[in-house]
Amino acid sequence: MSENLKHWAVVPDAIWNGTTVTKGKALIIEGERIVELVDSRSVGKMRSVNLPDCTLIPGLIDAHVHLSNWMMPGFLAAGVTTVRDTGNNLEWVLNARERTRKNPLAGPTIKCCGPVLDGRTTNWPKISRQNNDCNQVIRSVEELVSAGVDAIKLYVNLDKDQMDAAITTAHNLDKFVLAHLGGVNAIDASKIKVDEIEHLTGCVHHEHGGESPFVDPEYLSACIDSFLENQTIMCPTLMVWDRLCRINESVLINDNRLRWVHPQVRSAWARFPHRYLDPEVRLKRQQSLITMKRAVYEMWRRGCEIITGTDTPWPYVIPGFGLHDELALIVDSGIAPIEALKMATSRAAAALGLTGEVGVIAPGAIADLVGIGGDPTEDILHLSNVQFVCHRGEVVLGDQLVGLRDAEFAIDPQDAITEMILGVADTKQLPKSPPVIFTDES
Ligand SMILES: [Zn+2]
Repeated sequence: MSENLKHWAVVPDAIWNGTTVTKGKALIIEGERIVELVDSRSVGKMRSVNLPDCTLIPGLIDAHVHLSNWMMPGFLAAGVTTVRDTGNNLEWVLNARERTRKNPLAGPTIKCCGPVLDGRTTNWPKISRQNNDCNQVIRSVEELVSAGVDAIKLYVNLDKDQMDAAITTAHNLDKFVLAHLGGVNAIDASKIKVDEIEHLTGCVHHEHGGESPFVDPEYLSACIDSFLENQTIMCPTLMVWDRLCRINESVLINDNRLRWVHPQVRSAWARFPHRYLDPEVRLKRQQSLITMKRAVYEMWRRGCEIITGTDTPWPYVIPGFGLHDELALIVDSGIAPIEALKMATSRAAAALGLTGEVGVIAPGAIADLVGIGGDPTEDILHLSNVQFVCHRGEVVLGDQLVGLRDAEFAIDPQDAITEMILGVADTKQLPKSPPVIFTDES
């Protein structure tokens, strides 16, 4: 199919609408929306895409990324049709949001925070705003909201009063607030009504300086009490710790999905300083990862709201496909595949203010759809078998994506995020010729 069909049908083997799986149904799509679910035998001669071996699921949502242009084809190839950028150059990300809004083939639908709001010091100056006091952080929130951001991201060096001021200001302006916590613990952040916490910060890394995070069961339980009372969402990004632990594993370095990663970034990942840490630190982190999986399971068991994000482009977190891996880690913690999938669809949509629009297959919703060979509601690893992607009613073709990707890879990325990754890789004098890790399509 080479054109955008105005009125057409998708006929899969099964549909997971975000809640239940049904067989024998087809979707009718008009423009960018789903208009009807019908009996598949009634499609008749209407123009249709037949997916006889596929389960059709809502387009996936990655709620924690930092975007660059080179990532866009990878997200779509993996069936990730919505992302939330949680820290970037303001002007760049607003432009990117506009570009994919106008052209669904240019990349996923973007929600964005602009730069992260940090305290007196900033960890990532290229994507941060420094705030020395409460008045300054209030002004920063007001300026970002009037510039058009979708949410506010708070960062590690803010103190509790500054966070409180930022959250109150953002909520008065009807904006959602997420935080990567540093000095403020998760219970306090939850009590001052932060909407979402990233990376399990403030509840598992609350001592030990983050070097080997651990869980104090009593403290975790108190965090969960507070999250339930204040409806605080958790976006655990297990991928960050998984990759830190496993950064020297040959299976990561030889992953053929690295063909969706810009060659310069691939090379930077291969010489990332974390590869050369004291092995003892890495082993401790491997133990920590098990602890974190247990914490995620405990939060889920007790009814906390959990959504999925990846922190792409953290080393070996491949755009789009990293979300498949995050879901596999969630399932590995003991949570059923169908519950994990909700974290990347309807639950993430709610956190992004998109309930009913995306993350669901229903009449009136946006036609963001992924056809998966097999059934990911039974086996989450089936997600790797993406057979069909539709973003806002436009069918995304594989060779189109390869063309867009190759065009991006032919130029040197100049954006803030890629510069940061290349910069971290070059902080140490390390071997200059990393192994050839991937060269072409298999
Ligand atoms: Zn991040």
